[in-house]
Amino acid sequence: MRKPLVAGNWKMNGLRASLLELSMMARAYTPVLRARVEMLICPPVTLLFPAAASALGSGIKVGAQDCHAKASGAHTGDLSAEMLFDGGASAVIVGHSERRADHGETDADVKAKAEAVIGQAMLAIICVGETRAQREAGKALSVVQKQVKGSVPAGVSADQIVIAYEPVWAIGTGLTPTIADIAEIHADIRKTLARLLGKETAAKTRILYGGSVKPSNAKEILALADVDGALVGGASLKAVDFMGIVEAA
Ligand code: PEP
Repeated sequence: MRKPLVAGNWKMNGLRASLLELSMMARAYTPVLRARVEMLICPPVTLLFPAAASALGSGIKVGAQDCHAKASGAHTGDLSAEMLFDGGASAVIVGHSERRADHGETDADVKAKAEAVIGQAMLAIICVGETRAQREAGKALSVVQKQVKGSVPAGVSADQIVIAYEPVWAIGTGLTPTIADIAEIHADIRKTLARLLGKETAAKTRILYGGSVKPSNAKEILALADVDGALVGGASLKAVDFMGIVEAA
C-alpha cells in the first residue's frame, strides 16, 4: 500500500562534478526498481536545476533541503517554496535536526515551512528525532510525539507529507538504534499521526528512518512494518552506496 521512498540528502556537499553520481544513479534505476521504490535526491540548491535536468526521464525526483515559510520579500539569502519548485524541486526536507540545531528552528517554524511546501504542491519531508541525552533519559517517545504534533500541518493528506524519524545521535555517526527501538518509535509515530490526521491518513503516510543507513544495514531496517523507506545522508553521495539501499528497499 505504501510505496517505499529512498531519499538522499546531500547536505552542504556537491559540486557540478557530483552530478556524475546522479547520472550513474539514473542509469541504475531500472524499470523494475522504479515500479517498486521511489527515489529522491536533495542536492545543495546550487545544483537543483542541473540535477533536475540530468534526472529528467529517469524517474528520479529532485528536492531541496529547506525553504523559507514566506512566499517572497525581504529575506536575504533565503529561498521560497515557489522558487524551489521553479528550480525543479518536487519535494523539500523541513526540520532537519541540523537546521533545528544550527538555525534554532522550532516545531512552529517547521510546520510553517511544511505548509509553504504543500502550498506549492510539493512533498514536505518533515524530520523529527531525539538527541542522545533525551534517549538516555527515556524521553525518546515523548520528544518525538511532541515534534510530530508541533510540526505536521493540520488536515494534510498522505501524499502531501512524509515523516522522517532521524535520531540526532545516529546522524553521520555510524550508530543506529536497535531494530526494536526503530520499530517502537515508527509504530508510535503512526499512532500520533492517527490522532492528528485520522487512522486512514496515518495508515497511508510514509515514515522513513534516517541515521547512518548504509547498504549493509538497510535490509534489516527497511524490512520493519512501519518503516517505509530511508532518508540517507553520507551514503547518498555515491551512486554505488545509494543504489545498494534502493535495492534493499
Ligand atoms: C541525514 O542527515 O539526514 C542523515 C541521515 O545522515 P547520515 O545518513 O549520514 O547519518
